[in-house]
Amino acid sequence: MDDIWSAIDGLRSKEIYTLNDIMQFDKKISTLITGLCIGSADSPQKELSIACKHYRFKQRQLLRLQNFIELKRKNVQDNCEHKWERDLGDPDDRSHYDCKKCGAWR
Ligand SMILES: [Zn+2]
Repeated sequence: MDDIWSAIDGLRSKEIYTLNDIMQFDKKISTLITGLCIGSADSPQKELSIACKHYRFKQRQLLRLQNFIELKRKNVQDNCEHKWERDLGDPDDRSHYDCKKCGAWR
């Protein structure tokens, strides 16, 4: 548990955060929550209620993150100077091409 707090303190001491820093911070906090969650509430019912609330919160966060990823992927693919290469994984499908730069396919 101490190594998680050290990592969080390391991230807190930064003056400028990158997107990767924020993702690492979220990962450490999530690990901390999972570790502390068991047996930390007044009763098993309270613990279950808190865990369910947190689960719903994380579901909404995941949906927002999924939308963010799809938006970013579309932006990257719309602005890519594609380098199309035929997908050789399926010899029967002669019409499948992948862009080796952005992952788009056609
Ligand atoms: Zn591309």
